[in-house]
Amino acid sequence: MHEASIAYELLNIAVNECHKNGYKSIDSIKVVVGRATGVMTDALLFAFNVLKKDTIAKNAKLIIEELPVRGVCKDCGKEFESNENYIIFECPNCGSFSVNLLSGKELNITEMEVS
Ligand SMILES: [Zn+2]
Repeated sequence: MHEASIAYELLNIAVNECHKNGYKSIDSIKVVVGRATGVMTDALLFAFNVLKKDTIAKNAKLIIEELPVRGVCKDCGKEFESNENYIIFECPNCGSFSVNLLSGKELNITEMEVS
């Protein structure tokens, strides 16, 4: 399961960061997830809540902020934004699959509350 390994990675980063700075527990972790990653946020949340149990993040709340996909079509030059959860994008203007993604591949921790 894709989401489980992502949750594991995020937890690892958060826990390491916490240890490095001498904190004992994590209260919340905020992550941004671009829709072009194909990550299902429900599955990510579920995996996180299972994996956190034996860590200093056991009481941590995972806050997921989803970012829409923004792209620009290489054929007609039009910019578009999409909230669809697909990895392959089609230009809504001309139907071309030749698009450049401007954003939507983000997947990282933006904020952490520790104590
Ligand atoms: Zn187009």
